[in-house]
Amino acid sequence: MQSTAPLHTDANILVVDDSPVNVKLLLALLEHYGYRNCQGINDPRWVEPMLEEQLPDLILLDINMPHLSGHDILAWLKTRWGEQAPPVIVLTAQTSRDTRMQALDLGARDFLTKPFDQQEVMQRIRNALQVHFLLKERNDRAILLQNLVEERTAAIARLSLEDPVTALPNRRALLAQLEGRLREKAPAALYFIALEGVDDIARLHGYATSEALSLHLRDRLLEHFASQATVGVWNTNKWLMITQQPLARGELSNQARAILHCIAQPFSIDQVQVRLDARIGISHTAMPHQSADHLLRLAALALPDTAAEWRLYQSSIEDTLQKRIRLHEALRVALDNQEFFLVYQPKIELPSGRVVGAEALLRWVHPTLGFVSPADFIPMAEDSGEILRIGEWVIEHAIRQLEEWLIARQVSPDFRLAVNVSVQQLTRPDFARNLLNRLLRSRLPAGALEVEVTESGLMENVELAREQLRLLARHSVPVAIDDFGTGHSSLAYLKTLPVSVLKIDRAFVSNMDTEPQDRRLAETVIDMARNFGCITVAEGVEKPEQAEMLRGMGCELAQGYWYSPPLKVEQFIEFCAARQLEMA
Ligand code: C2E
Ligand code: CA
Ligand code: CA
Repeated sequence: MQSTAPLHTDANILVVDDSPVNVKLLLALLEHYGYRNCQGINDPRWVEPMLEEQLPDLILLDINMPHLSGHDILAWLKTRWGEQAPPVIVLTAQTSRDTRMQALDLGARDFLTKPFDQQEVMQRIRNALQVHFLLKERNDRAILLQNLVEERTAAIARLSLEDPVTALPNRRALLAQLEGRLREKAPAALYFIALEGVDDIARLHGYATSEALSLHLRDRLLEHFASQATVGVWNTNKWLMITQQPLARGELSNQARAILHCIAQPFSIDQVQVRLDARIGISHTAMPHQSADHLLRLAALALPDTAAEWRLYQSSIEDTLQKRIRLHEALRVALDNQEFFLVYQPKIELPSGRVVGAEALLRWVHPTLGFVSPADFIPMAEDSGEILRIGEWVIEHAIRQLEEWLIARQVSPDFRLAVNVSVQQLTRPDFARNLLNRLLRSRLPAGALEVEVTESGLMENVELAREQLRLLARHSVPVAIDDFGTGHSSLAYLKTLPVSVLKIDRAFVSNMDTEPQDRRLAETVIDMARNFGCITVAEGVEKPEQAEMLRGMGCELAQGYWYSPPLKVEQFIEFCAARQLEMA
């Protein structure tokens, strides 16, 4: 029978037999079949030192030998080499069952019985070698795979602690480090750094530039602070520095200033100069805290509102925040709980003194928080989106109120009521259409309801606003620009918007009698408005001198405490009636 098994002729084969004849015979046989790396020994005591030098791929082992039996060697192989022990074919003249069982038990792979049958010897050797090399290959592959897995796991572990762009410690690493410090009761200060302008840079110059910027910033911060601090990345525009410096206020402020200064220097990236601004919130381990995470939150809470500034966490910051959160929650249900009402501030025609209109202003009185200023809750409602529902309520209420007054002839037929509309409302694609539909359903004459939009709001999204304003203008809904002069937009630009009223901001009016510059500004606005075909309303008129001055400049309308504060419905009607009497 011809074997198909691979020959493995370069295998290392060791023959151990105390009979030199047997050894010679087997070596000759192996050589004949092409095995090149075979050795034979007669003294079994040499096995041990030889194997320590190099493990053969196969051992042909006699059982009955002086000094050490084949069984002894099998036992030693098992204990010394375990899984790695080379396969052993036992050469034996005895065929006693016990001997064979003992050899098998000790790990012998096969048996060859003396005298040898050449063909059988070669076949068994081939088989043993084939199994051995197969196992060896599998084993090698397993080791390779295991190494690969270990490398990967290490890489992943490293990555999970690193920011992918800068390779600086990430959130997890920073938290772990801080937890370590807390465990050791080591002092630590946290600088939570909010970078301003990163998003703009990415939008303007692309993400490659913003990544390059991160790397530049990393290098700069490490250069200045690596010896005393850990610099890490919380997310793209929030970084964190942890220092072990003393926690005295002076030290903290010096460090914060140094960080701000370091960030403020311009960066040049691919011939582009970019600047970053930052704010820093600080907390430290001497502050009462529950965990590393909590300390971090304190630093984040301490972030000041303005750039190039830093602030140390104080409990009052959290109180303010808590208050804001409570106010937010209260605001969400204020409309359903009917806590809102409108007050009305008269608008006076300057030369005649007639009440020709009013501005509806929103009021909120909460059952426990009391009166809340619109200057506080309107921005909040704008942030949360609540302003949309509230704004709708204001318009609905104003329309109904005006209908009532007109029917009862409590105001003149050309009376105009203005409502404030925030930019979120105005830039809704359906704002103008909805308002026009509502006005159609009302019995109000055209132009009776006016819309006031702040200049800054308009500038926030001019194109969307322009579309809505056009539609309103086409249907004769007057639009006033509120707080005019504070939004830094040019008059020439505003000319391109379909507006019919400019309201000069209170800031200019209140200083008109003392500041010549404000007076000139008011004058210019009134002149230009006239050229555009707009009328002007002066806000915040508190003194008769201001009213007189404005009248002289040709300002059409005035509104302010000098005439009347915003009034509740009944008082407003009384005010109108009293004026009417005065005029008659
Ligand atoms: P605004 O539209 O500029 O309203 C004028 C503010 O000036 C009102 O404050 C008014 O009470 C106050 N004021 C009137 N005359 C004088 C005066 O002679 N001197 C002084 N010092 N102040 C005067 P208020 O009612 O607190 O409203 C503040 C702001 O809240 C308003 O500014 C407006 O932007 C916003 N707001 C009020 N109601 C609404 C509303 O229904 N919707 C929207 N979106 N915003 C509103
Ligand atoms: Ca207004
Ligand atoms: Ca205003």
